[in-house]
Amino acid sequence: MSVRLVKFGGETLAGLEGRLAELLSKAAAEVGEGRVSSWAKALEESKGRTEFEAPETLVVTPYLLDFRYRRSTGIALTRFLEGLKEGKFLGTRCSGCGRVLIPPRTFCEWCFRRVDEWIEHSGEGEVATYSIAYIGTNPKVRLPKPEPIAVIWFEGTKVVRPNTRTVAHAAGILHRLGEVEPQEIMIGMRVRPVWRPEEERVGSITDVLYFASVRR
Ligand SMILES: [Zn+2]
Repeated sequence: MSVRLVKFGGETLAGLEGRLAELLSKAAAEVGEGRVSSWAKALEESKGRTEFEAPETLVVTPYLLDFRYRRSTGIALTRFLEGLKEGKFLGTRCSGCGRVLIPPRTFCEWCFRRVDEWIEHSGEGEVATYSIAYIGTNPKVRLPKPEPIAVIWFEGTKVVRPNTRTVAHAAGILHRLGEVEPQEIMIGMRVRPVWRPEEERVGSITDVLYFASVRR
């Protein structure tokens, strides 16, 4: 593991731009264009400015960050993950405001009260918003097939503000869409979860393979 530190103290703007550009192109060659494009953009935006704050240090590391860590899932999320293993979406409902929380929480920050009523949900819902992913977790690798990713709002969990008609709350989840071509996806499209075979489930959100359109 090596980290290179480059000092720019007290240089002129022209000199600094040259050095930065050189460094960015080196970094791009090593780690891939996508990871340094935001720096390149910042450099481009800085051109022509009369006042410029020179960074003292620029750290360039050509390594992908790959941290692995564990965390406790707590009472509510543990139950949620165990539910996924059984092919169920479990959530909680606040007895104060009536909101459904999926994934579940044991506290409502609207009402400042404990939430301990458990519900089971079909997992059906609607596409609230979506995007098409062309790269996965490794930015150097383009996905062989673009992947639609959507925020799904679970059915019957929307709380709409009466005056503005905007959604104040909806229990939802970010997940893949499947069995659909990107051009067929629409906001409001009804979807259902498609589960992994039971023997392959491990108690993870990936026990749901994707959400597929409910054609009615
Ligand atoms: Zn509440």
